[in-house]
Amino acid sequence: MEFNDLGARPRELRPALDAAIARVLDHGRFIMGPEVTELEAALASWCGGSHVVTCASGTDALVLALRVRGVGPGDAVVVPTYTFAATAEAVALVGATPIFADIAPDTGNIDPAALEPALRAVPAGHRAVGVIAVDLFGVPADYPALAEVASTHGLWVIADAAQSFGAIDPSGTPVGRCTDLTTTSFFPSKPLGAYGDGGAVMCSSPDDAAVLRSLRVHGAGADKYDNERVGTNSRLDTLQAAVLLVKLEVFGDDLARRETVAASYGEALAPSAGIAPLRPPGRGRSAWAQYTIRVSGAPNRPSARDHLAATLAEAGIPTAVYYRRPLHLQRAFANAPRPADGLPHAERLAAEALSLPMSPSLTEADQDRVIDAVLSWHRSPGPTQ
Ligand SMILES: *Cc1c(COP(=O)(O)O)cnc(C)c1O
Repeated sequence: MEFNDLGARPRELRPALDAAIARVLDHGRFIMGPEVTELEAALASWCGGSHVVTCASGTDALVLALRVRGVGPGDAVVVPTYTFAATAEAVALVGATPIFADIAPDTGNIDPAALEPALRAVPAGHRAVGVIAVDLFGVPADYPALAEVASTHGLWVIADAAQSFGAIDPSGTPVGRCTDLTTTSFFPSKPLGAYGDGGAVMCSSPDDAAVLRSLRVHGAGADKYDNERVGTNSRLDTLQAAVLLVKLEVFGDDLARRETVAASYGEALAPSAGIAPLRPPGRGRSAWAQYTIRVSGAPNRPSARDHLAATLAEAGIPTAVYYRRPLHLQRAFANAPRPADGLPHAERLAAEALSLPMSPSLTEADQDRVIDAVLSWHRSPGPTQ
């Protein structure tokens, strides 16, 4: 069994992919070809009408979004410490300072109540300008609560939805419209994955969309040789757009299959004490980029999580740990400010999180093997507990 079977869809969709790629080879518009525009319209209708500007990666999408907000040196941006490096990296890449905030233990997402402690850590001479929330593992962050705290401090909120395109927040709003600027990634292992790098920014304002379109092509005005601002080269390849248009046809089905996998994991594992899945509250719907459980063990003992992972590996079941170290404990961000009381929830989750095999093509038989192995470990976990 594979942790995330990226080969299954290309096998199933091969004729449609071949035809889509052949069309690009025939028309030869490899950069900003018609598929790019078509994809942007299709993505916009997926999330209910916002503007979509594609770009070269999810990391670039974050950098472009920050540039639209005019973020630069002297600015501080609050980010959760429990995320992939790109979230904080983008802040540093535009010359600003990331400030780390703690997470809510039930979702792993930035805790709206953690914004104020993070803001108190903004260094002298810096000005807090905004927040980047991350929809960890596919579960949308609590945008209504974040907006409330952010607006009292005059901050904007950007959604890093690299893991959550296709999800719905607890108020029923699709990802892409939960806040004014949302970024996503089409890295192959994300819920909507291309067969190479890619990303997009979704926004509610046509003016922001126009600036994004300019920034991704060298700050172009009327054309690429008319430079209105300092931009960059961050376009989505026409070939990747063609692939994504094919993948988008089955994306609803992919999300439904992931939901089915998550539901049967949830049903089987939820009653086990000490094994709690991270899932969206209420009516929210995750994109299930990962199915992640918390494995809590006794403090000061060898990690129960690592013991379970090793037991599963022996049974031929692959797992992954996202993330073994929160960003505030990484060397790259050793000097980034953090709240005086530390980031205990993130550090605890880093010791307890374990992601189980998840993909739209995971068979019922493989799922049963995973469930049986986890439950049998839970009944007799061996020497760690
Ligand atoms: C994957 C990811 C990114 C970066 O996306 P790339 O397309 O790999 O650049 C950013 N943020 C989060 C939370 C991610 O998971």
